[in-house]
Amino acid sequence: MEVKNNLKLNIKYKILNGQKIYFLSEDEWQILLREGRFSIFQFGIRSINLLKNKDYPISKKYKEIFLGIGFVPSGFCLPYTFLKEKDEYLRIQIEYRRCSNCSKKIIIGNSKDATIYVGIPDYINKLELMKKSDKLIKKSCPNCRDKKFSDLAIWSVIDV
Ligand SMILES: [Zn+2]
Repeated sequence: MEVKNNLKLNIKYKILNGQKIYFLSEDEWQILLREGRFSIFQFGIRSINLLKNKDYPISKKYKEIFLGIGFVPSGFCLPYTFLKEKDEYLRIQIEYRRCSNCSKKIIIGNSKDATIYVGIPDYINKLELMKKSDKLIKKSCPNCRDKKFSDLAIWSVIDV
């Protein structure tokens, strides 16, 4: 029991937008992705598959992308993806897009999806958070620089 409690206490976390977000080590992620649970965290198969196929490999490939876990008031835990911009962690949803001009497959970090703000306490102004992200929006395709690319992306890379 003591070991288990120590384990809980040893998981690193940061308070981001008033919400406690846990950052697991590589070994801890491996257990969670394999077993569907680790320490106080548990995810359903759908979430695990989504993480395995999308957010987790992207967070490994791009050093500015971080994966964290937080809890919502109902007690469920949710995975969150962040873009680290200077010292700030900005919430994003990773999405695959295709540029309508050059047809290249692009990966974007969408800061406008409401689900990424779930779990933030009521006293934090979510609209202000979104406005902050608005300033970083990249409106041109990372491949062809076409301007009609996306009005959602605060991060974008060519999918290789
Ligand atoms: Zn393009």
